[in-house]
Amino acid sequence: MTSKKIILKPEKEKSILHHHPWVFSGAVASSSGNPQPGETVEVLSSGGERLGWAAYSPYSSIRARVWSFDPDEVINEEYFYRKIEAAARLRTAINITKETNAFRLVHGEADGVPGLIVDCYPDVAVVQILSAGAEYWRDVLIDQVQQITGCKTVVERSDVEVRQLEGLPVREGLIRGENLPQRIKIEENGLHYWVDVIGGQKTGFYLDQRQNRKRIMALSKDREVLNAFCYTGGFTLCGLAGGARSVLSIDSSANALTLAAENLALNGFNPALNQWVEGNVFKELRTLRDRNKQFDLIILDPPKFAPTAAQAQKAARAYKDINLLAFKLLRNGGILVTFSCSGGVGRDLFQKIVADAALDAGVEAKIVEMLSQSADHPVALNFPESAYLKGLICVVG
Ligand code: SAH
Repeated sequence: MTSKKIILKPEKEKSILHHHPWVFSGAVASSSGNPQPGETVEVLSSGGERLGWAAYSPYSSIRARVWSFDPDEVINEEYFYRKIEAAARLRTAINITKETNAFRLVHGEADGVPGLIVDCYPDVAVVQILSAGAEYWRDVLIDQVQQITGCKTVVERSDVEVRQLEGLPVREGLIRGENLPQRIKIEENGLHYWVDVIGGQKTGFYLDQRQNRKRIMALSKDREVLNAFCYTGGFTLCGLAGGARSVLSIDSSANALTLAAENLALNGFNPALNQWVEGNVFKELRTLRDRNKQFDLIILDPPKFAPTAAQAQKAARAYKDINLLAFKLLRNGGILVTFSCSGGVGRDLFQKIVADAALDAGVEAKIVEMLSQSADHPVALNFPESAYLKGLICVVG
């Protein structure tokens, strides 16, 4: 049994009693036993009641992340094995492999393993280790991912900014196995994509948009489509598969566009139906407006403008800008499919921004569908922050 502890300030146990896994530094009165980064600590209320077991993170404002709210839990290898196995069972329960061979196996806090992300591609698992606690158990977790998935090859993509907040260095590359192909071919909803798990964004593919990509197939027939922030062409391919008349696809990343063009060819689409534009969406939308271009379907899937609430105001201006321009570029009866993956911008705020954009663009629009992340990115009811992807399908006119 560990003798390392953190003791909360009076009245600060409420969120833990609701099973929210984050203990902020302001809630901690003291620690004892000199816990080191990532070590397991007992979490005690100010009255001395044991509330659970957490990973200590001295450099982060999230001072501890709770592994278990069961006072009698033992945090050991077997504990993590159970958690990862449960995450795998959930993916089986939602029948994920029916629609794809690339999916998220472990979604951090939402799967009860704060700081661990595991994405599975055919024969390759890609892990992100994002917290001091997950880093402490790194070798154990990677062994278990290998055992449970059967993947010999594991790539690490712990190259995201949040690691700095935890006092952890960037780490990326092949960590298990050999002969990692430069590109992995995946199949999602009947379409094929090349994925670069080393050089691509996130773990190589935006797996969270899978079900929304499928929606685009159903909305594109005979439409002139604009796909802004197209990455490797996910929504572009779905638009073409759905019978779009033409697609204009914009992204600022030349590497993403190279792969996007290969993805188009891989699926045998007529390249003349799509135009790739390497550019800044904020600028390109203005150019299109100035040329009086009009579209029937516009997709806006920008990167995270506000990782946390601190950047919400600046992010709101950016969302308003692109959504306003998009409304102006739509024909009457046109459809806007607009997303925000910013943790710092909630669904209500996002909807308000889009409403303001429509008002300023001088259009009437109706929401016909609310979108969210794919089912392999579950939302834990005790951790609402795990619902990060918000989307709206709006019809104009
Ligand atoms: N819809 C895509 C994922 C989009 S991710 C899919 O389904 O796969 C966001 C993309 O926006 C990234 O490819 C990134 O390169 C691009 N990006 C970021 N800022 C941009 C900007 N200002 N202009 C154009 N593209 C941008």
